[in-house]
Amino acid sequence: MWANKFPRRTFLKATAATAAAVGAGDVFSLGEWMKQASAAPVTKIPSLCETCSAACGMWVHVKNGRIWKVTGQKDHGQSKGKLCARGHAGIAQAYHKDRITHPMKRVGENDFVPITWEQAYSEIAAKLKKVLQEHGPDKVFFSHNPRPTNAFYWPRLMAAVGSSTIQSHHSMCSTGRDVAYKWTTGGMATADLGNTKYIVFLGRNYVEGLSPSSAAGMEAAYAKGTNIIVVDPRHSNACLFATEWVPIRPGTDLALLLAVANVLIAENLYDKEFVDEWCVGFDEFKKGMKDYTPEWASSVTDIPAATIYAIARGLGKNRPASCIEQGYKAPNGCNYANGTQMFRMVACVNALLGNYGKAGGMKFGNPPKLGSLDAKKHPAPPKPKAKRCDGVGIKGEFPLCQPNQGIVHMMPQRALEGKAKAGFLYRINVARNAPQPELLTKGYKALDLFVVCDIKWSESAMCAHYVLPECSAAEREDLPTVVGAAVTMRTAAIDVVHSETKPLPEIVTELAGHMGLGKYFNFTREDVAAAMVKPLGVTLEDLRTKGTVKVKAPAAKPLGFNTKSKKIEMYCQAFADHGYKPVPEWEPPYAKADKNSFVLIHGKQGFLSHTTSISDPYLLAVAKRGDLERLWINADRAKKMGIRDGDLVEVSSPQATRKVRVKVTERVHPEAAYLPAGYGRFAPFLKTGVGYGINPNDFTPCRAEAISGHAMMMEVTVTIRKVGE
Ligand code: SF4
Repeated sequence: MWANKFPRRTFLKATAATAAAVGAGDVFSLGEWMKQASAAPVTKIPSLCETCSAACGMWVHVKNGRIWKVTGQKDHGQSKGKLCARGHAGIAQAYHKDRITHPMKRVGENDFVPITWEQAYSEIAAKLKKVLQEHGPDKVFFSHNPRPTNAFYWPRLMAAVGSSTIQSHHSMCSTGRDVAYKWTTGGMATADLGNTKYIVFLGRNYVEGLSPSSAAGMEAAYAKGTNIIVVDPRHSNACLFATEWVPIRPGTDLALLLAVANVLIAENLYDKEFVDEWCVGFDEFKKGMKDYTPEWASSVTDIPAATIYAIARGLGKNRPASCIEQGYKAPNGCNYANGTQMFRMVACVNALLGNYGKAGGMKFGNPPKLGSLDAKKHPAPPKPKAKRCDGVGIKGEFPLCQPNQGIVHMMPQRALEGKAKAGFLYRINVARNAPQPELLTKGYKALDLFVVCDIKWSESAMCAHYVLPECSAAEREDLPTVVGAAVTMRTAAIDVVHSETKPLPEIVTELAGHMGLGKYFNFTREDVAAAMVKPLGVTLEDLRTKGTVKVKAPAAKPLGFNTKSKKIEMYCQAFADHGYKPVPEWEPPYAKADKNSFVLIHGKQGFLSHTTSISDPYLLAVAKRGDLERLWINADRAKKMGIRDGDLVEVSSPQATRKVRVKVTERVHPEAAYLPAGYGRFAPFLKTGVGYGINPNDFTPCRAEAISGHAMMMEVTVTIRKVGE
C-alpha cells in the first residue's frame, strides 16, 4: 500500500488534516449528524454538481465549515430547482476516503509513493522533454471530458507542447452520433419535446440518463398526451412516460429507420417542399430506400411490420411537429458497427419530416457567446502542426472523425504498437469505462510517460507514472459557462480538505512553467473568468452570489446547415470520397444472438454515473438495498434454461467469464441480456464498491467503428449458464 511509503511526517500531517476536516469519514454517524444539526448558521454557496456532465446548478449549504446538504438552483436550466440522487450524494466527494491526497509517483505494480509538487512537475517536464526529443509531438496525446475549466487549460498546454492529439471521452459515448450529424446537417439539432406531437426515442433514456430537467420534460410531455414511442431492447424507466414500448432486436435501429423512410416516401408523407429547398441527394436517397419495406425490416428488427407502418405514419401525419429524438450513446447507435449510418438516418428521417427549425421538430440552439482573453496581452500558442496519433483526420484511418473528440479508447492499443509514447489523462477513467480493461491497462503502462490528474483513485490512475491530485468540486472555483440563456459558475464552498490538492488552473500553469512554457499562461483564472463574462454584462461577483444569472437570449438564427453544400446531405459526398456509403444502407451489427447466446446490452441506472458512483457509499447502499447489479434476462428464455430469478449464473465471452445474479423479467428482448453499466470496479486502492457487480466492458473487445471510431460497446454475444452458489 502506498501509505507504507509515506515519509512518516507527511503521513501524520495528512492524517491529522483529514481527521480534522472529515470527522468520522464520508458517511455521517447519527452522533455526527446530531452535531451538525446544531443551531450553527448555514451559509448557502452557489456551485455546480459534477457527478455527471449535466452540471446542474446547486446551492451548497455549509455549516460549521462543512458541507451540510445541497439543493438545486431554480434558475439553472439543468436542475430547475432539483438535483438527482447522484448530485445529493456526490457532493460528499470532498470527504471521500478514495481521494488522492498528494502528488504520487508509481514505483512498482500498485505501488505509489507521495512526492512533492516540485518533484512531480520537474520529473514530468524532464520525461516529456525526452519523449519530444526522441519522437516529436506526434506521439503525445491528452484525453479528458471537456468542461469549461479543463477545456481551456489543458488544450492550451498541449498546443504549447506541440501536440495535436487532444481527445474527449466521446468515442466511448456519442462520437458516432456527432460525426453523423456533422456530415449530414452540419451539427446537432435537438428535439423540441415540449411542442412535439409525436416523438420516437431510439434507446435514449431521459429518465435515467443526465439531468432532472430532461426527465421532467418527458413527464410533462407525457402528461399532456404527446405520443411518445420508446424503441429499446429493454423496457427502461423511460417507458414510464411512453405511450408505447417497442422492443427491438439489439443493433437493428438502422433497419427500422430505413423502413420508416421507405414508408414516408412511398406514401407521400414527407415534406417535399422542405426536401427540395434544404436537402441534397434526395433522388439517390429515394432510390436507396426503395427496397427497405416494413416487411423486410420486420424480419431484421423483430418489430411487427404493422408497428413500423404505424410509427412512420404517426411521424408523417404529425409533421412537422414530429421527430426522431437526436439520441446519445444509448443502447443503439454508438454501440454498434452500423452506428454512424444509423444516426445519418435519424437526421435524414427528420429531414423528410421537414421538422428542422419548426415547433415540435428539431431545433438548433443559439447560446449566448462568452468572451475570451485579450490575445495581444496573453498570446495563445500557435496551432500545432503535429500529426495526430489516434488516426483522426488521416486518410485511410479515420478521416471524417471529429478532431475535437478523437478516439480515446484506442490509445492504449496505439501505445502497444509504438504509435503513442506520452499521454495525459484528466479525470476520465478509460481503463474501466471502455472495453477490455486488461488491454487498456497494459497499453497505458507501456507508455514512456503517463500522467493522470484526478480527484479520486481510479483504474486509469493505477497505470500512471504520476498522479496529480485536484481539489473536489466543493473546494474550488471554476470558469463560467452558459446554460440556456444564462451564465453560471461553480464557486468554492469549503476550504480544501487535503492541503496538498490544488485546483486545475494552478496545476497546469505550474506544470507549464516547469516545461518552459509559462509565457502562454501569463494570467490568473480570475482574468480568464472575467474576460469570459464581460460581453454578457455579468460580473464574477454576480455569479458568486447568485450562482446562475439570466442574460438576454440571442435571437434565433435563420435556418441553415453548416455542411459543405449548406444543405442536409442525404447523399454525402465526403462519405463517398472516403469509401463509405454516401446513402445509408443496411449493415448488420457484428453481434447476433442464437438459441444458445445473447447480445450483451447495457445502460444507465438513474442513481449511477458510469462506474464512479458505485464507489460512493450512499449510492452503493442504494444498489445493495435494491439488488440492482443483476443481469436481466427474458423470462421465456430463462424458463427454457432452467434459470430462476435470483439464480447465480456464469456469463462468458471470448474476453471474460464472470458470475452474477439474474433478474428474470419480461422487460428485455429475448435475444438481449441487459447488464447495468455502473459496476465492477477493480482498482485496488479504492475503499468502496470494489468487486461489487460485474461490468459489460469486461466481455467486449476493444475496437473502433470504421467511420467515426466509436467503441462499439454492445458488439458482443455472451453465453449464460446457471451455476451453484
Ligand atoms: S443530473 Fe444529477 S448527477 Fe448530473 S449534474 Fe444534475 S444533480 Fe448532478
